[in-house]
Amino acid sequence: MSTPTTNPESASPSPTSSNFIRDIIVEDLKTGKFGDATVQTRFPPEPNGYLHIGHAKAICLDFGLADEFGGRTNLRFDDTNPEKEEQEYVDSILEDVRWLGFEWDGLYYASDYFGQLYEWAIKLIKDGKAYVDDQTADETRKTRGSLTAPGKESPYRNRSVAENLDLFTRMRAGEFPDGTRVLRAKIDMASPNMNMRDPVMYRILHAEHHRTGAKWPIYPMYDYAHGQSDSLEKVTHSMCTLEFADHQPLYRWYIEQLGIFPSQQIEFDRLNITYTLLSKRKLLQLVNDKHVSGWDDPRMPTLCGIRRRGYPPEAIRAFVTAAGVSRTNGTVELAMLEHFVREDLNQRAPRVMAVLRSLKVVIDNYPEGQVEELDAVNNPEDPAAGSRKVPFSRVLYIEDDDFRETPPPKYFRLTPGREVRLRYGYFITCTSVVKNDKGEAVEVHCTYDPATKGGDAPDKRKVKATIHWVSAAHAVNAEVRLYETLFSKEDPNQLEEGQDFTANLNPHSLEVLRDAKLEPSLANVEPLSRYQFERLGYFCADRDSAPGKPVFNRTVALKDAWAKIEKGRGGK
Ligand code: ATP
Ligand code: MG
Repeated sequence: MSTPTTNPESASPSPTSSNFIRDIIVEDLKTGKFGDATVQTRFPPEPNGYLHIGHAKAICLDFGLADEFGGRTNLRFDDTNPEKEEQEYVDSILEDVRWLGFEWDGLYYASDYFGQLYEWAIKLIKDGKAYVDDQTADETRKTRGSLTAPGKESPYRNRSVAENLDLFTRMRAGEFPDGTRVLRAKIDMASPNMNMRDPVMYRILHAEHHRTGAKWPIYPMYDYAHGQSDSLEKVTHSMCTLEFADHQPLYRWYIEQLGIFPSQQIEFDRLNITYTLLSKRKLLQLVNDKHVSGWDDPRMPTLCGIRRRGYPPEAIRAFVTAAGVSRTNGTVELAMLEHFVREDLNQRAPRVMAVLRSLKVVIDNYPEGQVEELDAVNNPEDPAAGSRKVPFSRVLYIEDDDFRETPPPKYFRLTPGREVRLRYGYFITCTSVVKNDKGEAVEVHCTYDPATKGGDAPDKRKVKATIHWVSAAHAVNAEVRLYETLFSKEDPNQLEEGQDFTANLNPHSLEVLRDAKLEPSLANVEPLSRYQFERLGYFCADRDSAPGKPVFNRTVALKDAWAKIEKGRGGK
């Protein structure tokens, strides 16, 4: 992996900012490179896992650029590897692309093209540009050469066209066992580009495919299928990540030999994020080895994971746009992603009061049995969101942390003898504290000033802190799941000798609070609804919620580390 870098210039969100891919498209449209064809792009996931936020970058580019130029985008499953691919993954990818906010024009599968690809393989054989190789996989690997040494030609390389045709049609007919032969392109075993050293086009594999069943005992390699699939769909601009740059000459070679539509490939940098792994293989391992509860565990960087966590799709789109595209790989800070999530939720998440770790407060001079419905603003950023009533009574819960018997310096919250404001309520003054035999505060006694209803004193006296609360008699008990990063290292791939990336898992990535107290409006939340718990952070109702028994995931805490970083740089 390349060294982590964050490019401050690329961090400002500007959806209209230019990038080199857009420049290429503008130029191609100007020169009429593709005639009067409109811009055609595609997003080509392999259905061997769930999409992650790295894919979101590719999706936003593919769909975003086509939209901008009035073009079209296909969703194409690159399903050439039946052993690793499943319908479950196909379904999740369809759902996730839509959730991100995009709708495809065409929906295709590389497997739709198996027949055409086979015909083209026959043509390449007839043209003397492909041959059946009987070497073992081991022999093929050993004769490939290296970056500094040329490869060695296979003894089967100069078979006659007739013999190649015969063997290949028999491969197709299922006559030979797995791995006994391959079809290879006849290019150049001495090419400095290893991808051009007679790459494998077809392998024998008697495997059930999730779409074509047992129809094919041979399967095309991804590199043989990908460029022609683009070509068949008349993709004008085929965007992919940088690791495919070395494959581009091969894709072009096939297209030229076959004389078909010349799709243009453009490579861009992969999205990498600190404390995050974006590799389907590794994410699958986390799921299989039960380090997480599933693909949609809210700690996962998968789109279904971050959806469950409460990240809005709008925030993801704004983030990947701001992260930008370039021709060198780098790493973006997780704090930047969280910043975009907060910015979005700040605009639209209703505010509510919730106490995560509760401490009981008794207001001794408040009439027993009295309940007042106080007005609480739903969203100060959105006047249209209106207000709601929150019940207030003699016994409340406050956050354990909002009381200290012996306050440290600069602690302005509740402490014996001090007056603070209860949000939307009254000023209260702490008069005494009841402790358990371990010396911990279990109940705090206060008095309130009836003249301060709504939160202001008529005599204009000030308090230094406002704390949130929930009426004990009305509180809804809830489970709240707090998350930290899944990995404790900024680069989870940084390993000691002999370690595997799971050594970097953060043992504190999940903390479950089973006795949180919520205001009663949250008793029957819809899963996936998002709120700001005042003073604590943004939270999203989990699908494990049941009527009267909400479960919340913490999406992100309120503190914005990224804004601080920006400020430190002299930014906004
Ligand atoms: P992974 O490494 O997670 O398995 P992949 O590249 O094998 O990803 P594909 O299903 O082949 O997964 O990816 C579909 C598209 O998404 C490709 O065009 C790929 O280049 C792009 N893509 C994958 N990962 C990222 C990433 N981290 N950033 C940007 N684009 C990505
Ligand atoms: Mg891939």
